[in-house]
Amino acid sequence: MKGRLTTLGQCQMILCVASWIVPRRARAEWRKEWEAELAFAWQISQAKGESSAATRLRWRCCGAFLDAAWYRCTREDLRSTSKHWSQMPTFVLSVLFGVLLLLAGASGDFPRLRSILLRPPYGDPQHIVTVSRTGVTSSAEWVVPYFWVDIWRRHEPAVEGVAAYSWRPRAAALMISGRPAGVASVRVEDGLFQVFGVRPLLGRTSRPSDAQDYRIGLLLSYETWRRNFFCDPNILEKRATIDGQEAMIIGVLPERFWFPSADVGVWRLADKRSFSREAVGVVARLRPQVSERWAEGALQRDVSNMTGEAFWGSSLQVWPVQERIRQPLISYTVALCITLLVMIAVIWSGRLNLYPRYAGAVRACRWWTFFAIKSFLLLSILLAAVVEFTPEPYVFPPGKTTFVLESVSLWIFSVGCLFTLWWSLVDQQSRCRVCLRRLVLPAHIGGSGCLLLGWVGTELACPEGHGLLHVSETDVCWLDPAQWTQLDESWESLFSEKANDEVLG
Ligand SMILES: [Zn+2]
Repeated sequence: MKGRLTTLGQCQMILCVASWIVPRRARAEWRKEWEAELAFAWQISQAKGESSAATRLRWRCCGAFLDAAWYRCTREDLRSTSKHWSQMPTFVLSVLFGVLLLLAGASGDFPRLRSILLRPPYGDPQHIVTVSRTGVTSSAEWVVPYFWVDIWRRHEPAVEGVAAYSWRPRAAALMISGRPAGVASVRVEDGLFQVFGVRPLLGRTSRPSDAQDYRIGLLLSYETWRRNFFCDPNILEKRATIDGQEAMIIGVLPERFWFPSADVGVWRLADKRSFSREAVGVVARLRPQVSERWAEGALQRDVSNMTGEAFWGSSLQVWPVQERIRQPLISYTVALCITLLVMIAVIWSGRLNLYPRYAGAVRACRWWTFFAIKSFLLLSILLAAVVEFTPEPYVFPPGKTTFVLESVSLWIFSVGCLFTLWWSLVDQQSRCRVCLRRLVLPAHIGGSGCLLLGWVGTELACPEGHGLLHVSETDVCWLDPAQWTQLDESWESLFSEKANDEVLG
């Protein structure tokens, strides 16, 4: 007797769990049918006296899951449930959250966004600056002659270290152990990584002082090491070439380090001779307590004293690297603020009928919280997409044409801001002021020809019967463009699920 209870009890539990898959309305009936079948099967097995009856019965009950799933999928319920679900406020939020997760997956956890927002992987970032010329005609003239760097290195007490780099990244064909990779490369002086105070992830950042190696020294970015060489821990010992020349991998830089462009995948160490007749970009580490303005004056004086350079119409500019890296974010914030001002003006004017009038504090709070979360998710998606998937950021504008191209991302962000926030407002307007579901059953009311005689427009209803929204077809100043009519509880029976199904067919 005890055994019968246990087996039957287990089977009933299985049926109970499976019944959750069945739509709520049909659940009780579905369970009754299965339990009757179970009781019948039990009686037969008892009559036969089989020893394996209990196991067989349990397996049979597991089949209820399939039946329940089949029941749900083949009935109209699925269509109507998904339709109902898509009206819910949580649907929009989950879709937006899903898109954000997809973007995170596609970009590899937002590497660029993190490198801009998080603390950089080098020591005392506030003292690292770029030195460039301002007041020049072409944006490609901000670079300085290499011998100025030599002057500063030898004479200037304001800087702890200074290093030059070729400012234009070039495409390079890298080959390590027979595996090719096309990456952007930049030539840098040995001391550049000491100026940054960056600790390598693997190996070192400069050649050993006693090394008499003819090969080109290379440092890989974390992304190149991960994407192209699958985080190979023995990469330093492998044979490498760059553009057909023998090279050696000296080290791998930490995640989130980039300079001067996020696309640079390999840094080639170069000596003084190879830079001697070039115009170069300069990066320096200021001594503590030395301000940027003071350093500008000191560096300029040094060059004037040694070379007689008069700096007609131009001057030197000392600018913290971290500030330059975050520069695009400042432009994005300005674009966002302008869009928000426009939106606030639209909401304030009352032309959208957005405010849930006569609603209690809790409802109004829910209403605006939903709007805020939705808009925040939309803007986060936009920002992440623009930063991760457009060609930037650069520390410097390398030439006029590229500069125009770079600001494309700012254009996309500004226009995108306007569109996403506008969509958020329009979506909010077409929602029930009580339960935040999307309004349904649009009905056209009035005749377009007789505007003066009556109201013309579309009427939308809350699927739960909380109220009606009247959207005017013609924008006339004496009529509100949209009006919300709250319905009392006596209307709810009209909008009950059954009545809704009948209307929807
Ligand atoms: Zn409602």
